[in-house]
Amino acid sequence: MATSSTATAPQATVHGPQATVYGYPRQGPNRELKKAIEGYWAGRVSASALHDSAAGLRRDTWQRLADAGLTEIPTGDFSLYDHVLDTTVAVGAIPARHRAAVDADPLDGYFAMARGTQDVAPLEMTKWFDTNYHYLVPELGPDTAFAANPAKAVGELREALALGHRARPVLLGPISYLLLAKPAPGVAEDFQPITLLDRLLPVYAQLLTALRAAGAEWVQLDEPVLVQDRTPAELNATARALRELGALTERPKLLVATYFDRAGEALPVLAKAPIEGVGLDFTGPGAANLDDLAAVGGLPGKRLVAGVVDGRNVWINNLERSLVTLATLLGLADRVDVAASCSLLHVPLDADRERELDPQVARWFAFARQKSAEITILARGLREGATAITAELAANRADLASRAGSALTHDPAVRARTAAVTEADARRAQPYPERAAAQRARLGLPLLPTTTIGSFPQTTELRTARADLRTGRIDSDAYQERMRAEVREVIAYQEEAGLDVLVHGEPERNDMVQYFAEQLTGYLATRHGWVQSYGTRYVRPPVLAGDISRPHPMTTQWFRYAQSLTDRPVKGMLTGPVTMLAWSFVRDDQPLADTARQVALALREEVTDLEAVGAAVIQVDEPALRETLPLRAAARPAYLDWATEAFRLTTSGVRADTQIHTHMCYAEFGAIMTAIDDLDADVISLEAARSHMQVAHELADAGYPREVGPGVYDIHSPRVPSTAEAAALLRAALAAIPAQRLWVNPDCGLKTRGWPETRASLDHLVAAAREVRAEL
Ligand code: GLN
Ligand code: ZN
Repeated sequence: MATSSTATAPQATVHGPQATVYGYPRQGPNRELKKAIEGYWAGRVSASALHDSAAGLRRDTWQRLADAGLTEIPTGDFSLYDHVLDTTVAVGAIPARHRAAVDADPLDGYFAMARGTQDVAPLEMTKWFDTNYHYLVPELGPDTAFAANPAKAVGELREALALGHRARPVLLGPISYLLLAKPAPGVAEDFQPITLLDRLLPVYAQLLTALRAAGAEWVQLDEPVLVQDRTPAELNATARALRELGALTERPKLLVATYFDRAGEALPVLAKAPIEGVGLDFTGPGAANLDDLAAVGGLPGKRLVAGVVDGRNVWINNLERSLVTLATLLGLADRVDVAASCSLLHVPLDADRERELDPQVARWFAFARQKSAEITILARGLREGATAITAELAANRADLASRAGSALTHDPAVRARTAAVTEADARRAQPYPERAAAQRARLGLPLLPTTTIGSFPQTTELRTARADLRTGRIDSDAYQERMRAEVREVIAYQEEAGLDVLVHGEPERNDMVQYFAEQLTGYLATRHGWVQSYGTRYVRPPVLAGDISRPHPMTTQWFRYAQSLTDRPVKGMLTGPVTMLAWSFVRDDQPLADTARQVALALREEVTDLEAVGAAVIQVDEPALRETLPLRAAARPAYLDWATEAFRLTTSGVRADTQIHTHMCYAEFGAIMTAIDDLDADVISLEAARSHMQVAHELADAGYPREVGPGVYDIHSPRVPSTAEAAALLRAALAAIPAQRLWVNPDCGLKTRGWPETRASLDHLVAAAREVRAEL
């Protein structure tokens, strides 16, 4: 546990633009928080030791922010699991099934809501806007009774004030809280949580009053939902909420923060509201806020917190450009402060620790710590003029120039190849019916062919082998042999189970993106670049830093080995270009479409190589296609255009009789139906078991013409579906998709499952396919 300096003297007051952030990573420099929480779960760490670690981490973080020169420091953004769950606790919206546990022990009850217990299901978890952070979805209904519980917010504020910081508590705002919620189990599906606003506002009033009484000058209400397309009714509700909270007598000043995109139609609502401050995002699509703000006549009489430093990506800021933006903003508000575009939760902690990177390249990176410094520099530049930060600007200019001029970011061969791509390169040469006939002839599969999505259980032995390879306990040959042994076992099992199209099981893949990132030139890996995915789960996304090329085949040897063991077709297995971008940090110095095209061309080589070594079926997974859909509908067509083009570019270099599969999961597919069709994949497998084949019907209604494998086995649970259950799902699918175009497969890969349930479930899946085939 890192120790911190002792309490500091109250901060000197800085006049003029301030430097601040909306939130900071919670983990601690060596993921101490994860260790403390998991230790508590395992019974190794006491509750009081956990609370002490948490308080120590908060203290260190605040001190680090103060040392970096931030003059206003957020509190309350810290969380033992998730800030939306913290809001659920703060407004007393504990689901009935967790009430007793929370009353008995608030800490254990909190973790029960987050993770469930033997007997009680957790809250559902879903993605926080278009980030890779997951929040716990509030469950509300007409009977929800809110009650203010300011203990956490007030406690953390007091801690920070006692340490001498100028602290600004952060709360998720009432509109976002309600719009991010869903109907509680047992409540009508069409129940709209926003109808609870009048009941919720008095609770927010109490929270605000309590924070004011504890010494908060300002409170930040996060309202990120305002950057999505909102209905007039929702905008009215926002105006009403802010009017009501603004009318409180004993209250702190209110800063309403928006982030992840432009505020759009919500901007005039915020400008007119009786609040003292507005936070806007000026990065990425949020850049449109600049013109929008001018168009509404600015924020007279208000404080503007200008998010000019990208809080979601890992690159250094263009300080000169940001200063220009900030200077323009000075004329559009009463006071302008400098911030990151959103909480720094979404970036790793400290780029200085990346000692294994080329030092030149490491200087292109800004993680949370470096971003705090950039914000401070910009605030100083805004206060004192650019001459006060001449040296910083010069260093920044040099780093930007080194990035722009580097051979990593500009590989002429890649550029030439990408520029030469034509529309025809992204189209299969033959129309689907012709391909389907050729593939039928080549593969000779039965009706309702059975297959899996790719991975088989990633057992402890596999993970240990990988760790052993890393630490040098085994050499590469020994590692390869262990993986081959696993492939042998997986192939033998599938033959015995009677599956029709086999997979090699992906034992050699640590992660479906990282595995490819490690082999592609232009991708970088970090050593300490952890970001919170959910709870105590942290991921280390690879960084798409340069022009992408493929120095050597990445998967063919595994495919060949697997195919050599069986006469049945083995699927080649790749991660698609959109997912390769979505689960990485992407470069910000060129359009995403260009990066996607480079990745697609590299993957296209792999597809062609797989075909050349005999793969008759190649699956290109795109589970992330839906999740990177832009937040604003107006931006979606352009995204779907480049995303589907990248997929087709990856997959269209093959012969008619090579069957291209794709796979998607975790999605409401409605918004991307047309895009799914535009992929022009011969077969698509999708998650469907939990939604009773709904997606099969949606595809049928949309006139989807190709083959479909709606999942009949929910792999997110250890539960083994019975043959009857899988057969019933198949019959339900047959009501939408004709037998000639229906596949039988699980919802997703099996890597998180154990062998016993995998075996039993797949045996039932195959039995169900046989049973239903016999009825045709
Ligand atoms: N082929 C991958 C697997 O089976 C797909 C994973 C995913 O869709 N997330 O693991
Ligand atoms: Zn999946």
